[in-house]
Amino acid sequence: MASVEPAAVTVIGLGMMGAALAGAFVDRGHPTTVWNRSAARADALVARGASRAETVADAVSASEVIVLCVVDYDAAHAILDSVGDALSGRVLVNLTSGTPGQARATAEWAAERGVDYLDGAIMAVPQGIGRPGARVLFGGDKATLTALEPTLAAIGTAVHLGEDAGIAALYDLALLGIMWSTLSGFLHGTALVGTAGIEPKAFTRQAVEWLGAVGTFLPGFAAAVASGDFTTDVSRLSLNADGLDLLVRTSAEQGIGVEVPAPLRDLYARGVAEGHGEHAIASLIELIRRPAGA
Ligand code: NAP
Repeated sequence: MASVEPAAVTVIGLGMMGAALAGAFVDRGHPTTVWNRSAARADALVARGASRAETVADAVSASEVIVLCVVDYDAAHAILDSVGDALSGRVLVNLTSGTPGQARATAEWAAERGVDYLDGAIMAVPQGIGRPGARVLFGGDKATLTALEPTLAAIGTAVHLGEDAGIAALYDLALLGIMWSTLSGFLHGTALVGTAGIEPKAFTRQAVEWLGAVGTFLPGFAAAVASGDFTTDVSRLSLNADGLDLLVRTSAEQGIGVEVPAPLRDLYARGVAEGHGEHAIASLIELIRRPAGA
């Protein structure tokens, strides 16, 4: 069977992430055209074999597949609005972070101009691009994504979440929320044991073990949320509310900040006040779904 030549790709936006994406396409042999607002950011990629486009319009006309990865949607639209109809008939893969609403509005913008549109969320850091484990979540037309998979394989595994262009952004923020909560909790714990002279490295060994155990709790939580059955033989919400109160008090006693645990203490206490004290922690979903005061 004849081997298929790697498809030409244009990458617009060469910040930390865009440069990693372009580098991965170059490394896999894709003819890669690059453009960045600050042209000097393309130098290292050109030295590796990428072609520099002098204008965005040149960048767009160089490839059927245009990957856009800039800081936010204002920047994305500043670029897209300047090329407009030149994108018609091409595929725009937007890997810029934003809200689901911004993604859907950009999908409509693309549809009005005859541009095939995929909206993606990169679940990796620049150093992970093109390596095993790098995943990019996508919303949009499945057939369009399937056709692009051999090209997108250069940067990671493409995961289709649905036809809704906003779905990847929604997942992205939901998953990042877990990351930010977890990392903030880790930093709080590191500061707390640090008051007793414990080195971050020593605490990290315990934290990594513990996170592995906590990860195994999630399917049980998901089952409880799905069924609405919050009976528990593991741990009552009231016990956890008391624990969070202890954490906040201990943090204050040890002289560190309470910004990380205090909102959680308040949420758990509200859960108890609203009658969930004997229920599982998963019952908090009912409060989270209904903002305080609503
Ligand atoms: P970055 O290093 O700060 O680069 C920002 C890029 O946006 C640069 O190419 C910059 O161009 C461009 N830009 C900013 N304002 C612009 C404007 N008005 N017009 C044209 N270009 C403009 O950010 P990054 O890390 O590459 O992130 C890019 C996107 O990837 C973001 O949406 C980010 O959330 C997402 N992402 C990043 C990571 C990560 O770990 N870095 C992970 C997942 C997703 P100049 O060079 O000219 O300033």
